Amino acid sequence: MQNLLDFDADGLTAWFAEQGEKPFRARQVLRWMHRSGVADFDAMTDIAKSLREKLKARAVVAPPTVVSDKLSDDGTRKFLIDVGNGNAVETVFIPEDERGTLCISTQAGCALDCAFCSTGKQGFNRNLTVAEIIGQLWLANKALGAVHGDERVISNVVMMGMGEPLANYDNTIKALRLMLDDNAYGLSRRRVTVSTSGLVPTIDRLREDCPVALAVSLHAPNDALRDQLVPINQKYPLKELMAACRRYLEKAPRDFITFEYTMMAGVNDSDAHARELLALVRDVPCKFNLIPFNPFPGSPFRRSPADRVRRFGEILLQAGIVTTTRKTRGDDIDAACGQLAGQVKDKTRRTAGTTIPIQELRT
Ligand code: SAH
Ligand code: SF4
Repeated sequence: MQNLLDFDADGLTAWFAEQGEKPFRARQVLRWMHRSGVADFDAMTDIAKSLREKLKARAVVAPPTVVSDKLSDDGTRKFLIDVGNGNAVETVFIPEDERGTLCISTQAGCALDCAFCSTGKQGFNRNLTVAEIIGQLWLANKALGAVHGDERVISNVVMMGMGEPLANYDNTIKALRLMLDDNAYGLSRRRVTVSTSGLVPTIDRLREDCPVALAVSLHAPNDALRDQLVPINQKYPLKELMAACRRYLEKAPRDFITFEYTMMAGVNDSDAHARELLALVRDVPCKFNLIPFNPFPGSPFRRSPADRVRRFGEILLQAGIVTTTRKTRGDDIDAACGQLAGQVKDKTRRTAGTTIPIQELRT
């Protein structure tokens, strides 16, 4: 059985052609699935009965399963999504006055092993499928009552959940295309953000294939420190990363790169670090998003004190760089950045490098 949520528009059209069906039929089904959130072929009322029967025999519309759905006091809502084998990933909806942002995951676990990240500490399990990535938007839309009509409860999507989106490149691109497609979610390119730890070759590919807003996880102003915090820096050092950012801006839907910078006490948060950063990003139009470190058990780092974050931000601001500090939201439901823990079903399983147990972070 083919899961039709695994296709972007072109893929669906090609699959319909293989079944002897016209492109406009694929478009109709695409709209039913993504614009109307319909999974049942019989509910697709303008599709001929004979085609519905054919589809039922060969395909399904199968989003992943939500295993838990928690609402925080501040309105943040966290969905735990089953990805099989006792593992799960997280999707977080963050409502704000002017927008609603959905933070989605792209991998179960992550291979890049950043020193301060709980997802990284879990190791890599597997890439999410297109259906699992776009399915997070599909499910959240439904849970938030946003389907049917044009109501934009979710106006923004950020790929800042679990995993490195550019390490699951093909599936990420297909999911991005669905997000932008007017027959699917119709989101603005400027309101869809890929966050990457700095995979230089795939930043270049993204620029050509599907330029959306780009956030780069910087976390350190020099190679010596970044090599330790973000080990992929050893392969793609800062000079190359900054050059890739400049190239990206030639085609980006926004005229700046967002640099994410997790603030860890005594590690990367001094005035000298801030000044070193200014020199590093001199030639890259950018904004900074400072993220106070979110602790998790077993982590050696501590969050920078609030006045340190403020002072650090002031140095960047005084140099003319727009700098915001990320509010810690969803704290009470462990939905803050870097706290996305995943599944709790089976905490003991360990299958030689392929299946990771997803540990509960806080009890
Ligand atoms: N893999 C991608 C996207 C997911 S992480 C990336 O690394 O960019 C989203 C952001 O949260 C990244 O900037 C990441 O570095 C940051 N982060 C990870 N762990 C964190 C923690 N414990 N506290 C604060 N931010 C964290
Ligand atoms: Fe992976 Fe991003 Fe976590 Fe690094 S910060 S381990 S790239 S999810």
